[in-house]
Amino acid sequence: MSVTPEALEAAHLIDRLERLARFAEQTDRLNPAQWDVLRYLARANRFSRTPAAVADYLASTRGTVSRTLASLESKGYVSRNQSSRDGRSVEFALTQQAEKALRRDPLLALAKDIEQATGGNVADLLDGLRRTLREAIGRNHGRAFGACFSCRHFRADIRPSSRTPHHCALLNEPLSELENLSTCVEQEPAAA
Ligand code: SF4
Repeated sequence: MSVTPEALEAAHLIDRLERLARFAEQTDRLNPAQWDVLRYLARANRFSRTPAAVADYLASTRGTVSRTLASLESKGYVSRNQSSRDGRSVEFALTQQAEKALRRDPLLALAKDIEQATGGNVADLLDGLRRTLREAIGRNHGRAFGACFSCRHFRADIRPSSRTPHHCALLNEPLSELENLSTCVEQEPAAA
């Protein structure tokens, strides 16, 4: 495969940053796989908290994710509930203990590094990373995952005075402003 030296250098930098972030995670009560699941659940909307969705997002196997969820449950970081949309499946929610842990997430240190290195001008970096992620997802034939506002099924402000002003045309469900910004397993990017 032929790539430019600059692109290869960028890939090395991302890989090194990822390793440094992982190293910080080893110092806590939670291991890296458990941090990954907690972070995903913190960002996922109510349609996307099933073990299958977690496994898809993390590009992991369902067996591995199920073991991680069981371990988090036994430590008191997540609770298991019957799915409100499909009684045959389960979904997970963060406990207060998990929310407290996420306030000292080691990834915040990397976010701080980014803030300082860019002087707060993160937009270009974000754009480049998002485009890179889209390429990687396409190469791996993975699901996009993303927020409602950029989804082709999103219908904005159809109930302006309601607490759930938006609507999902795919799932036929009302959506709040907060859900509009959350990560969804069913998201399909709107045409650019
Ligand atoms: S509008 Fe798209 S992203 Fe939002 S809930 Fe529906 S499918 Fe998911």
